[in-house]
Amino acid sequence: MALCREYDALLSKTAEGSDVWRINNSGGNPVPVSCETMEILKKAREISEASGGAFNIAVGAAAALWRFTDGSAALPDADELAGAVSMSDYTNIYLGENVAAAAPGIKIDLGGIAKGYIADRIADYLKGRGVDSALINLGGNIVTVGAKRGGAPWSIGLQTPGGRHGVDFWAVVSSADGAVVTSGIYERGFALNGEWYHHILDPRTGYPVQNGLETVTICTKSSLLADALATACFVLGAEKGMELALRYGVHAIFRKHGGALDITKGLEIGFLKENG
Ligand code: AMP
Ligand code: MG
Repeated sequence: MALCREYDALLSKTAEGSDVWRINNSGGNPVPVSCETMEILKKAREISEASGGAFNIAVGAAAALWRFTDGSAALPDADELAGAVSMSDYTNIYLGENVAAAAPGIKIDLGGIAKGYIADRIADYLKGRGVDSALINLGGNIVTVGAKRGGAPWSIGLQTPGGRHGVDFWAVVSSADGAVVTSGIYERGFALNGEWYHHILDPRTGYPVQNGLETVTICTKSSLLADALATACFVLGAEKGMELALRYGVHAIFRKHGGALDITKGLEIGFLKENG
C-alpha cells in the first residue's frame, strides 16, 4: 500500500506536485522527472508509435471532460471535446535525459499504463524480500510471483462483462511469473439514451471507442507492456489489435459483444458457463 501511495504521488494527473501534474502545469517548460516516470513515458511513446496513435497518453484533456465515476451520466460539450482533441497530439510530449515537457494545453494521463508499471514494482518488491509465491491484483491488472504453493500455476478468472464483480467469470487462464491484464468497457462508464459510454477513448474523436469489442486481455511477462497493449489493442479493434499483439509476441484474447472470441494460438484458456 505504501508503494501504491508513493507511485500515485508521482504519476497521478490530479495530485498537485506529482511528476505528471508538474509536466501538465508547467506551461510547456521542461521539468525534472524521476526515472520511474521517465520509464513509463518512454514505454507509452513506444506503444503510441507502434499503435499508430491508438494508444495516446495525451488524451488527458479529453478524458477530463468525461465524468464516468460520479454517476452524472452527462455527455461533455461537443465543442469543448473537439478543443480537447486538438490538444492531444502525443508527439508534442518531449522526453529528455531526466526532464520532460508537454506543449501548453496537452494533458498527460497515465491511466492506461501506470497500474501495469506499479504491479511490476510490487512484484519486484516481494521477490526482493524472498517471497516466491504471490498474486497481486490491482483491478483488471494481475501479476503473479511464482506459482501457487505446491507448484500449480495460478488460475486467473476473466470477469463476465456486466456480471457480478468478483463473482461471475467466463474464462480462466493460467499464470506463473506473469501478467494478465484486461481492458474493457464495463468497469467505468454510464448509460445514456440506450448507448453505453465508457472510459477508453478514441484519441481522434474524444468519444468512447465503439468497435464491437467488450474486452481485451493480454498475457505476457511485463505488466507494464500488458497494460499498455491491452488499451492499445482495445482501441485498434480486433483485427489491427491482433496484429499488434502478434508483433509483440504476447498472448491476447479479444472478446466481442455477443461473446465471439479471437485468441492467439497456444494460449490455454478454460471456459466457464456464463452466469452474469
Ligand atoms: P485501461 O483501463 O488500462 O484500458 O486504461 C483506461 C484509462 O486510460 C482511461 O481511464 C484513461 O485514463 C486512459 N485512456 C483512455 N483512452 C486512452 C487511449 N486511447 N490511450 C491511452 N490511454 C487512454
Ligand atoms: Mg491499459
